[in-house]
Amino acid sequence: METKKLTVDISLVLPTYNEEESIPLLYETIKPIMEAMNRSYEIIFVDDGSDDNTISLLHQLQKQDRTLKIIKFRRNYGQTPAMSAGFDYAQGNIIIPMDADLQNDPKDIPRLIAKIEEGYDIVSGWRKHRRDKALTRKLPSMIANKIISKFTGVRIHDYGCTLKAYRGSVVKTMHLYSDMHRFLPAMGLLTGAKVVEMPVTHHARRFGISKYGISRTGKVIVDLLTIKLITGFSLKPMYLFGGAALIALFFAIIFTIVSIFQYAWYTTESFYPLSLWTTGFLFWWLSTSLISIGFLCECVVKTSKWRRGRLQKVLAEYIEPGGEI
Ligand code: UDP
Ligand code: MG
Repeated sequence: METKKLTVDISLVLPTYNEEESIPLLYETIKPIMEAMNRSYEIIFVDDGSDDNTISLLHQLQKQDRTLKIIKFRRNYGQTPAMSAGFDYAQGNIIIPMDADLQNDPKDIPRLIAKIEEGYDIVSGWRKHRRDKALTRKLPSMIANKIISKFTGVRIHDYGCTLKAYRGSVVKTMHLYSDMHRFLPAMGLLTGAKVVEMPVTHHARRFGISKYGISRTGKVIVDLLTIKLITGFSLKPMYLFGGAALIALFFAIIFTIVSIFQYAWYTTESFYPLSLWTTGFLFWWLSTSLISIGFLCECVVKTSKWRRGRLQKVLAEYIEPGGEI
């Protein structure tokens, strides 16, 4: 449960890696939009170890704008760690991550905020008309989106869109690593957050190059598996290992019975009860190993502080005596 007070209305979080050409225009576009909303806000640029002029441009802008905050990474860690650092630092009741390369449109920000204020915890941007290369970007992403939906049971079209809006108290409970920012809506739903999707505008990249290639699809699938295992079993590993051990035990019994029958009934040399017996023995061994691993994991979970940093935290809020629900 998040107890820290959030002190501004809106935090914009921009993961930024070598985007020197986009930054001046990006800043000119977002600033009037943030001002026009008449709310308190902060613009957080997370410089993900850029080796171009990004950081000095941001520094220049910060001299005339106190709402602009900069987090500077010493090296390139990746978009998810950049977003995660921004989320940790953000003070906003509503937190909005957005690409810094002008592919997301800041004009969508007020619409996303209005949707959160209707009572949602996460509003997920959907690049309905995505302006990226069809074969290397749109197709792999379409396949990945379908697989993620199938696996998580969450019906969202576009997991990869950075532009989303989060209730600050909700996103701050989520622990992010690897390439996992795209799974936040699914993780949110699993913890009981109210999630909705909203079509957003998408532009072709105007300056610089994309930082990703087709290899990202593989990473996304591996992350998906991790998330599925962690959200499903991190607190109850015995369900996973014990379940697998039961399947192994079933085969162990079958193979042992069959090998005993063969040994008793057939004595001709064409049968090899020994190999059946060996297979059965391997399944016994597998089953007991799985049980032991499961038991060890249970001990780790019961005793470890790691539970506190787990991916799936409990979403809860404190209601003051006499307060509203
Ligand atoms: N980005 C980042 N660190 C990285 C890669 C990307 O902070 O290691 C930022 C990048 O500057 C941009 C956003 O993440 O603001 C999305 O990256 P990109 O535009 O390359 O991805 P694409 O839009 O092609 O999926
Ligand atoms: Mg981009």
